[in-house]
Amino acid sequence: MNPVIVVGAGPVGLSAALALRAHGLPVVLLEADPAGRERPGSRALFVHRETLRLLDGMSPGLAAEITAYGRTWHTRRTLYRGREVYARTFPPPSGLPPFTSLRQLDTERFLRAACERAGVDFVWAARIRGVRTSGSGVTLVGEDGREWDAGYVVAADGARSTVRGELGIPMEGVRGEGFHVVVDVADVPDAELPLERVFHYEHPGVGGRSVMRVPFTGGFQVDLQCRDDDPEEAFGTEDAVREWLPGVVGDGYADRILWVSTYRFLRKVAASFTDPHGRVLLVGEAAHLFPPFGARGMNSGIADAAAAAQAVAAGTPEAVAAFADVRRAAGLFNSEAAGLALEHLRPRRRTVRLRQRAAAALAPVLPSCGSWLEHAPYGPRGGAPAVAGGKY
Ligand SMILES: Cc1cc2nc3c(=O)[nH]c(=O)nc-3n(C[C@H](O)[C@H](O)[C@H](O)COP(=O)(O)OP(=O)(O)OC[C@H]3O[C@@H](n4cnc5c(N)ncnc54)[C@H](O)[C@@H]3O)c2cc1C
Repeated sequence: MNPVIVVGAGPVGLSAALALRAHGLPVVLLEADPAGRERPGSRALFVHRETLRLLDGMSPGLAAEITAYGRTWHTRRTLYRGREVYARTFPPPSGLPPFTSLRQLDTERFLRAACERAGVDFVWAARIRGVRTSGSGVTLVGEDGREWDAGYVVAADGARSTVRGELGIPMEGVRGEGFHVVVDVADVPDAELPLERVFHYEHPGVGGRSVMRVPFTGGFQVDLQCRDDDPEEAFGTEDAVREWLPGVVGDGYADRILWVSTYRFLRKVAASFTDPHGRVLLVGEAAHLFPPFGARGMNSGIADAAAAAQAVAAGTPEAVAAFADVRRAAGLFNSEAAGLALEHLRPRRRTVRLRQRAAAALAPVLPSCGSWLEHAPYGPRGGAPAVAGGKY
């Protein structure tokens, strides 16, 4: 039997490989980078409960392994211009936590170890540059001329997907204005900041820009929403971060910066999640790009991976077509939800800012106003209607 080929060893490709092995299929995973590569940065931090459940279905015990390493907090806090408008501490859950937070490189480390245990055949330094599909399968061509044949290919080769490009499938959507800055900071040993997520609207310490602090194992991520006309070099370089960071987290962290990155807001979904023969299935950022609010990128990518593996295991054109329809609909839903979060986080209309200001003023007497300020930055809380029982 030809193996199923997965292209790309990011979190979504690794999850797809694991899910395919859980269906008993032989899997070859082709990755452009060499073995032992180091991917920097916290990037996608949140692994949500729905995702933990999916991962545990692929590799029993994986959810416990990831949650034992990640950080879960029970207090969420929201401030508006220096004043607290929401704070709530939830009781620790008895089962799986609602989320766990760890750097993407750590999530990938757990996934990769699980893939190795499950017998995924890794081929590193295998950059794909050509794709041929027919009714009976797919041939992938590497940049060094090597070829691989497969009955099905799951393409998880990221935002600049070569596989998608070779199939001529366009991305459809919009690019927003402006950027935010993501900074990873190592904890100060024995003097860690409180284990809680803090969102601060119009923080006075950083010129009225909104900022979020999110813990992860070993440190925390700071997300600064810059204004559309902010020059990137004034906020997004390591030197610039050393200037503004004390205004947000206090002194003592400037030399503990681990990683600085700027992130722009793309909301794009592939016009189709499969090729006309139904032999290549696009997943993760190869298929959709969302702003990170609500942690929809990696979490929905892992949902794609689980659905793709199920369709490949069924091995029928109908199953692949259903995968493509359902996951594209989920992609459009997630894109819309991330867009609503973006409108709230980076208000372009004066009315939105006025509503936020009014809610902050009323929050001490009307807790629902504080609750709205707390939840709105993540978009709608309901699940994608196309994904029965799922959130992404
Ligand atoms: C700078 C940066 C900051 C981010 N910040 C956040 C954040 O704060 N919050 C958040 O939720 N998300 C963030 N993200 C997004 C998050 O990292 C992605 O959602 C996640 O990595 C998507 O996983 P993926 O597996 O689909 O793609 P990727 O992680 O991109 O993996 C794709 C894999 O395919 C490989 N590949 C590419 N082309 C080929 C080829 N031709 N042949 C073979 N292999 C190939 C790549 O080397 C890579 O290993 C950030 C991303 C970046 C780049």
